[in-house]
Amino acid sequence: MTAAPASPVDTHCPYCALQCAMRLTPAAGDGGGTDAAPVTVSPREFPTNRGGLCRKGWTSAELLARPGRVVHPLVRQPGGDFAEASWEEALDLIAARLRAARAEFGPDAVAVFGGGGLTNEKAYQLGKFARVALGTSRIDYNGRYCMSSAAAAANRAFGLDRGLPFPVEDLDRARTIMLVGSNPGDTMPPFARHLEGAREADGLIVVDPRETTTAKLTHAGRGIHVQPAPGTDLVLLLGLLHLVIAEGLVARDYVAAHTEGFDALRRSVSSWWPQRVASVTGVPVELQQRVARRLAEGGAYIITGRGVEQHVDGTDTATAAINLALVLGLVGSADGGYGTLTGQGNGQGGREHGQKADQLPGYRKIGDPAARAHVARVWGVPSESIPGAGVPAAELLGLLGRPGASGGVRCLLVHGSNLLVSSPDVGAVRAGLQALDLLVVCDFVFNETAALADVVLPVPQWAEEEGTMTSLEGRVLRRRAAIAPPPGARSELWILAELARRLDAPSSWPTTPSEVFDELAAASAGGLADYSGLSHARLDAQLAQGRAAYWPFPAGLPETSEGTPRLFADGFAHPDGRARLVPVRVRGEIADASAARTGDNELTLITGRLLGHYQSGAQTRLVPELLEAAPEALLEIHPATAARLGLANGASVELSNTRGRVVCRVRHEAGARPDTVFLPFHFAGDASVNRLVGGATDPVSGMPEFKRTRVRVRAAEEVTA
Ligand code: SF4
Repeated sequence: MTAAPASPVDTHCPYCALQCAMRLTPAAGDGGGTDAAPVTVSPREFPTNRGGLCRKGWTSAELLARPGRVVHPLVRQPGGDFAEASWEEALDLIAARLRAARAEFGPDAVAVFGGGGLTNEKAYQLGKFARVALGTSRIDYNGRYCMSSAAAAANRAFGLDRGLPFPVEDLDRARTIMLVGSNPGDTMPPFARHLEGAREADGLIVVDPRETTTAKLTHAGRGIHVQPAPGTDLVLLLGLLHLVIAEGLVARDYVAAHTEGFDALRRSVSSWWPQRVASVTGVPVELQQRVARRLAEGGAYIITGRGVEQHVDGTDTATAAINLALVLGLVGSADGGYGTLTGQGNGQGGREHGQKADQLPGYRKIGDPAARAHVARVWGVPSESIPGAGVPAAELLGLLGRPGASGGVRCLLVHGSNLLVSSPDVGAVRAGLQALDLLVVCDFVFNETAALADVVLPVPQWAEEEGTMTSLEGRVLRRRAAIAPPPGARSELWILAELARRLDAPSSWPTTPSEVFDELAAASAGGLADYSGLSHARLDAQLAQGRAAYWPFPAGLPETSEGTPRLFADGFAHPDGRARLVPVRVRGEIADASAARTGDNELTLITGRLLGHYQSGAQTRLVPELLEAAPEALLEIHPATAARLGLANGASVELSNTRGRVVCRVRHEAGARPDTVFLPFHFAGDASVNRLVGGATDPVSGMPEFKRTRVRVRAAEEVTA
């Protein structure tokens, strides 16, 4: 374990993918055993955050000393209570149950669920542990809930997925930025500084059914807020593409030189004339024309977010956004592009190094014989011993607790994910977790999932550990330890090595982050996400000299190199160097927005994030200042809809459907659509919105549909009356 330095340490925020730069100054003494934060946080000047932090970043050190931390291994006793245990006892118990499950039902009876907040080293080691030590195909992670649709769309269009294929600062020069289903004004406020150039050019376009903080940045003539009916983003994007083609705005030379499939794409959007799009989306023809023409003026970026991606057609919607960007000649150009805003702290790196069910390190495909052979050599195992592709997260959770003899999962290891709050259909997830033979949760806070565990293992958190993170723009960053972890905590790298030893696993299991990174770099060599030219020492040297490091960063780059800040300038990652224009179509029935379903108490529920909380809220709900600012889930509802349903501002409301019931209070929001309500997903218990969200997933990416759930809404008094 790294000793705590006494001097200030430069690192990055523990929360979102913007990875704002901060300095941690250890407090006098060790701060241990008190409620006082053991470090002081101050922002650092850095290209992505420009010296800014949001309130989550400012208060991040609070969590280091909170009572909610786990500081000893906990083992559930026969009577149901937890008792402290030694590491030997806890690990022996886990290993014995894993052995028993594998012996009785085979390796796929054991599953691993990872997280997009884990460092690159931990994400890599977790993927290796699943395949080599457990021999299971069943590993996936909570990034499946965030990034998978945009990743799938980018992979099929560009042959490569990197959230932003350009540095964030490029946005400063944009004339036009169209954010589609993204609300960085709340989710990553310092990012909003990069929207200023477009605002000054009156060119910020925000597509969102809600009048979010970001949408309000378009006010006063600074841009356009487009409010399509929920779930109609795909139609809107198809309509914009139709307009671009119909009005002769296509970048013909670019399309001819850099893309494949334009003719089929043109035919696929021919029936999406503006009046038809208006009738489906509710977006007037004139507004569609303004947006299409503005995007075609040059200097434009199109950026998608979870608002359009977390749908059963999320991959197709992201694909439609990419098609639009390609047809306008933006992608890979000097002054335009397409990107998606990754959410979790290491949502980018976490999906590159083997946590995904179908991937090996370096973005290699697990079904590719050459990829398997390469990784097997690095791991020192036969390539045939590496399992094939597993199943995506929601499908994996559906197997929890089912009979082992019929392919069910009997044991689950959870690392850095509070899946009992963040997963769809949490009622079913709870039942699955309770039916397991073994649930192990590795975390630094005692979250809702840990409360159901058989064993809880305490691990260090961000200010106590070394490692690397990869930001939303593919920039590899160093996470550095400022203080020592609590004496009872052990790093995941050590835990996985100890379990591997107990399971007689082949290969070697280093526990030092820099050693694990070196192995990761070797495993990624030659892959799409190539880190082979990087090491902790090289990253430290780069950063000391003010140089960034963007992947791909293959071995042999000169000392002055920053890797690959901008992708696609010299071609795309498909073998012929050309992007694919992939025609997509609307599946299922199309509702007519003019017949807004406001005549009864059934509305469309959108879920999302608040400024003061992060993901499941397991961390931020423990920070007094953040909890005080947003202590409960409030249902955002249009005042007219609220009046029709008899819901005064602050009244208790019940939302229900066939999956469950949520009770919370309402907040009137004049900017909301009358047919839509919004509830944040950071809260547990009666207000856990994922009780209502179903298990439908995108057929390509496996991403659950969090953004479109039909619910009955009524005053809570009616329920008890
Ligand atoms: S924007 Fe994200 S990275 Fe920056 S301080 Fe806030 S939570 Fe941290």
